[in-house]
Amino acid sequence: MKKTTGMDRAATRNWRPATRAVRGGTWRSEHGETSEALFLTSGYAYDDAQTVADRFAGDADGMTYSRLQNPTVAMLEERIALLEGAEACRAQASGMAAMTAALLCQLSVGDHCVAARAAFGSCRWLVDNLLPRFGIETTVIDSAEDAAWEAAIQPNTKVFFFETPANPTLDIVDLQFVCDLAKAHGITTVVDNAFASPALQRPMEFGADVVAYSATKLMDGQGRVLAGAICGSEEWINETLLPFQRNTGPNLSPFNAWVVHKGLETLDLRAKRQSEQAVALGQFLEPRLEKAGGQMLHPGLPSHPRHDLALAQMDMTGPIFAFDVGTRERAFAILDALELIDISNNIGDARSLMCHPASTTHASLSEDARMDMGVTEGLLRINVGLEDIADLKEDMDRALVAATL
Ligand SMILES: *Cc1c(COP(=O)(O)O)cnc(C)c1O
Repeated sequence: MKKTTGMDRAATRNWRPATRAVRGGTWRSEHGETSEALFLTSGYAYDDAQTVADRFAGDADGMTYSRLQNPTVAMLEERIALLEGAEACRAQASGMAAMTAALLCQLSVGDHCVAARAAFGSCRWLVDNLLPRFGIETTVIDSAEDAAWEAAIQPNTKVFFFETPANPTLDIVDLQFVCDLAKAHGITTVVDNAFASPALQRPMEFGADVVAYSATKLMDGQGRVLAGAICGSEEWINETLLPFQRNTGPNLSPFNAWVVHKGLETLDLRAKRQSEQAVALGQFLEPRLEKAGGQMLHPGLPSHPRHDLALAQMDMTGPIFAFDVGTRERAFAILDALELIDISNNIGDARSLMCHPASTTHASLSEDARMDMGVTEGLLRINVGLEDIADLKEDMDRALVAATL
């Protein structure tokens, strides 16, 4: 018989991905509501004193306080875990709350972390500034160079931290190689999968231990809320992450969790359509760029040095690519001539958005760090949305002409 209330975890596990995205984690109240209920509550009341004592002792299931559990947030966590193929997931207040918690919950003074040099600006800030303040050594490497990972390992190396595709230069890390290497040395891999989402790439299939998200990006996908998530084994989440999370409180609000829930229902459709559009717009742009001496950074095009690897480990290559037009003047001329595509630094949105990373998302880094990552003055990054591709090409054409490209 079909269940109309409660959450049937056993049945859920056998569902195929599209079904999981729409129904996974749904936990109906006695009203049998179709859309997930929004439990905007910080606390819970109990029938008697023994009930709450048992819950606090861990002897009985049930909610005690929304920093520890909330039904709307728990539904989202269950759905993300199902999409990822992870044993467990915990939602976080933002992508950066997720990255910070995923690193600080397991690193201590005297440990060493190897990180990719190409990274979201704030992820790089964690590695360059925050971890060293707590006596955690860090080494930053070219993540697309396999030998660099092995060369960076020290006896105290505890974590590998990287994105693939990486922001904003679209470097591709060989997931199988790096995860195998980490396993052989007892190192925990933390993969920031924000650029792909579980609809396009599932790092755990290649042996990743921890997958962390900015759910602000493709998961919400409509530019509404900040959100994050961390996926891992049940043991790692319960024993390593939860003591940190429950006591430091980077929790996602139930309202934002509910909004991300609505986003996940259409994640697969959006991520795949936007990937197709990004390939089409890249193909339109590439010959014009080449003629002007510019450079395309697009994992979905054969000109990318790791195009084959990207196709092998991703279902599709995602909505984001970057291109270098040589100078800041030219980059700004393109941005200022756009009439449809917004000048905006978000990604994963259903709207097309373009930004100049050197003066925005990566402006807080040192000039040296920017050059090291390939964030040049002529670099532009675009998130390709769901608008009609003909309109996007027209807008891009207008902007290129304005910048004499
Ligand atoms: C946006 C982003 C983050 C940070 O996420 P927020 O939700 O903005 O805090 C981290 N990593 C990557 C790769 C991102 O794109």
